[in-house]
Amino acid sequence: MTKSKFNKGKAYHGSDEVTEGKLKGETCLTDYFYFLCPKCEGKQILRVLEYEVRVHEQENEYNKFFKKKATEGFTLAFHLHCENCGFDDFIKISNIGLQQGDIREQQ
Ligand SMILES: [Zn+2]
Repeated sequence: MTKSKFNKGKAYHGSDEVTEGKLKGETCLTDYFYFLCPKCEGKQILRVLEYEVRVHEQENEYNKFFKKKATEGFTLAFHLHCENCGFDDFIKISNIGLQQGDIREQQ
């Protein structure tokens, strides 16, 4: 069985509902990290419906700025969904974007 295309091959981008610190997450009892629905009350866990490797590079372009080196560069995209309220959105995790500092100073 071939892997289906991320977002059925359609273009995607996170909406205003996940930017500027509105999407939060945390670990639960284990070391697994969960994203929490920005629309539901409390701490409703979002499902990750699918993921995609958007960028994968052999070298990490930020290594020259740091003592500790990353083994590669990557950007992963995640399709998130709330079973409770229907919230549906996209986010990315990357080691070739912002790399350090207090996030409040980056905005
Ligand atoms: Zn929700």
